Amino acid sequence: MYDYVKTVIPEERILFRRQMKDYTTFRVGGEADCIILVQREEELAKLVSYLNQIEEAYFILGNGSNLLVGDKGYRGVILKFDGPMEQITVDGTQITAKAGALLAQVAVAAREHSLTGLEFAAGIPGSIGGGVVMNAGAYEGEMKQVVEAVRVMDREGQITTLDNDTMEFGYRTSIIKNRAFIVLEVTLRLKEGDRGQIGAKMEELAALRRSRQPLEYPSAGSTFKRPDGYYAGKLIMDAGMRGYRIGGAQVADKHCGFIINTGKATAADIREVIEEVQERVKERFHVSLEPEVVFLGDF
Ligand SMILES: Cc1cc2nc3c(=O)[nH]c(=O)nc-3n(C[C@H](O)[C@H](O)[C@H](O)COP(=O)(O)OP(=O)(O)OC[C@H]3O[C@@H](n4cnc5c(N)ncnc54)[C@H](O)[C@@H]3O)c2cc1C
Repeated sequence: MYDYVKTVIPEERILFRRQMKDYTTFRVGGEADCIILVQREEELAKLVSYLNQIEEAYFILGNGSNLLVGDKGYRGVILKFDGPMEQITVDGTQITAKAGALLAQVAVAAREHSLTGLEFAAGIPGSIGGGVVMNAGAYEGEMKQVVEAVRVMDREGQITTLDNDTMEFGYRTSIIKNRAFIVLEVTLRLKEGDRGQIGAKMEELAALRRSRQPLEYPSAGSTFKRPDGYYAGKLIMDAGMRGYRIGGAQVADKHCGFIINTGKATAADIREVIEEVQERVKERFHVSLEPEVVFLGDF
């Protein structure tokens, strides 16, 4: 297989046997067979059609900030965007970002061009590709409000552009989740604003995050989706699970919606805490907590 891959990707961008803990914000996860750094759409088209044809498993990695990779790692190919696939271009009130660009960097570009609307995303540690997949949101904002169009590739390597209406954005979901598209590029439509006010809003939200979230520990942010009519963190706290711990994984004291890696957690520890929390909340309040975090690989 790699004989073909090497005809598409230069060897220095094919990384064998990498520890996924170095690529996820939870800082856990075993070895992936191979990580390929993709810099061009044409490379991606060739890779995905080939990998599909030979039925080799592959996974699109954003910034690994919503991902729990098992301790035994991932048998397959991880595709990660790199270099030119992280570019950001601003044209009037429109920002076009390649899928690998970090949301935080896109938010800074917006501020630098006095464009308002993306302040909510400045503290979300994902890529814009991952942000669109999850319809990432915070503090009354979500990607749905600012996305104009999304350029996607299907698993045969065909490219299409979807507009906001066809994206089927919902709470932490979009068409990308259901149809297994790969996000290549995102076009945002923002509004002209005041640079000082935009910067102040971003700082205010960053301060709120620091005061409410256990940012000093590795995590994947909120572990669970918000169940209809409830807050996951409050249910977990009311179930008496604040500080609940297995191995190095813990329900954060500061925010029970976060499960943190206190230093030496394994992916299995984190998964067990997730399952225990689900069980106790279900038992106590008859509410099912659905993980927001994506699970990958062998545990
Ligand atoms: C401290 C902290 C705070 C957080 N706060 C928030 C918050 O306020 N709001 C919020 O919504 N989230 C939050 N998150 C979660 C996370 O940052 C977001 O869900 C983010 O959008 C995930 O993006 P990512 O690039 O890291 O995706 P990853 O974790 O790498 O991937 C997540 C999923 O998206 C898929 N994916 C990624 N890129 C692509 C692509 N280009 N094409 C197709 N599929 C792709 C992956 O295959 C995977 O299924 C937080 C996380 C942390 C650690």
